[in-house]
Amino acid sequence: MTHATLPPTLYLSAPDMVRLIQRKGLAHCLRGVAQRIAQDFKRWQDFDKSPRVACHSSDGVIELMPIADAQEFAFKYVNGHPKNTQSGLPTVMAFGVLADVATGAPRVLSELTLVTAIRTAAMSALAAQTLARPDSRIMALVGNGAQSEFQALAFKELVGIKELRLFDTDGAATAKLVANLVGSGLSIRVCGSVAEAVRGADIVTTVTADKTNATILTPDMLEPGMHINGVGGDCPGKTELHPGVLSAAQVFVEFEPQTRIEGDLQHMPADFPVTELWQVLVGQHTGRRDAQAVTVFDSVGFALEDYSALCFMRDAAMELGIGSTVDLIVHTADPKNLFSALQQEAVATTERSTLAISG
Ligand code: NAD
Repeated sequence: MTHATLPPTLYLSAPDMVRLIQRKGLAHCLRGVAQRIAQDFKRWQDFDKSPRVACHSSDGVIELMPIADAQEFAFKYVNGHPKNTQSGLPTVMAFGVLADVATGAPRVLSELTLVTAIRTAAMSALAAQTLARPDSRIMALVGNGAQSEFQALAFKELVGIKELRLFDTDGAATAKLVANLVGSGLSIRVCGSVAEAVRGADIVTTVTADKTNATILTPDMLEPGMHINGVGGDCPGKTELHPGVLSAAQVFVEFEPQTRIEGDLQHMPADFPVTELWQVLVGQHTGRRDAQAVTVFDSVGFALEDYSALCFMRDAAMELGIGSTVDLIVHTADPKNLFSALQQEAVATTERSTLAISG
């Protein structure tokens, strides 16, 4: 028997992640994660993919999102509880793991709440780079909560958006977004309704949270050439787009089997045509038909994006020397003698108690 040592598990805590993003710069992270997602989407066939596993309750959902290629496995734990903000908790909270496929050893344990906001915005921007009219400069941003700054800045950095039109049913959320975007260089208009925000916009991002089949965007609001980035409809019974919006558009998705269940697509017949974005990225399928077409990216968030983001953050952490190691797995000299770990611990405890008594 050879005695392999258990490889260390890098632990990236929430404060570590804040430090990492501040040192790298948010724009750099958005760009880097988008590049990493594009690279990984272009090798789509390398991944063992499945829709995420969801545990639904009356006020929310808790989900596990697994994916693997031949070398690395990743999973994310994420929730979605729109009422949480009323009691001071975030709607979305997440953490995740990267592991070696060859041995199953966990190599990274990381905060992913901030990373989810970055990867979702990076994914949205990548889809818009691929599908929106290249001359898009005005974006309506409906839903001004936790994800919104990341969406705004990703579209400025990666898509060339210069003007934002904001709407949220909660005026305080919009005021927070406006304050956070001071100095961003984006020109901002606060609007009194969704219709006002959407009028004349090149791109419409909906990123609202409500556990209901909401109708944020209706067909009468569509204009020729618009690109819709539908982010908030990501769960059965939780949607944002009127079915007529999808009927009028070319619809693009991340991973069709998951989006059929979770996306705005859940309202459409099972044979409603959609295109997976990776097919456009590799040139297997055309994207936007022409400048007049309406395109929809029906985003729900797919495990591959979290894998890409975890890899980006792991590499950045190693480069910057951020993070620590965590003893997640019990390791014994003889792997068949797991019991020996308890015997060691018993000795240690005895020693501590003895010390406590004699001291
Ligand atoms: P949040 O609770 O912080 O913000 C949501 C905002 O939506 C709130 O300010 C709320 O007032 C507003 N809102 C609710 N109903 C509205 C309506 N009818 N019109 C206008 N505004 C309305 O939540 P968040 O973290 O910003 O997440 C937003 C949504 O995005 C959630 O539904 C979440 O599940 C989803 N999400 C999707 C992905 C993805 O990959 N597709 C990733 C992360 C989050």
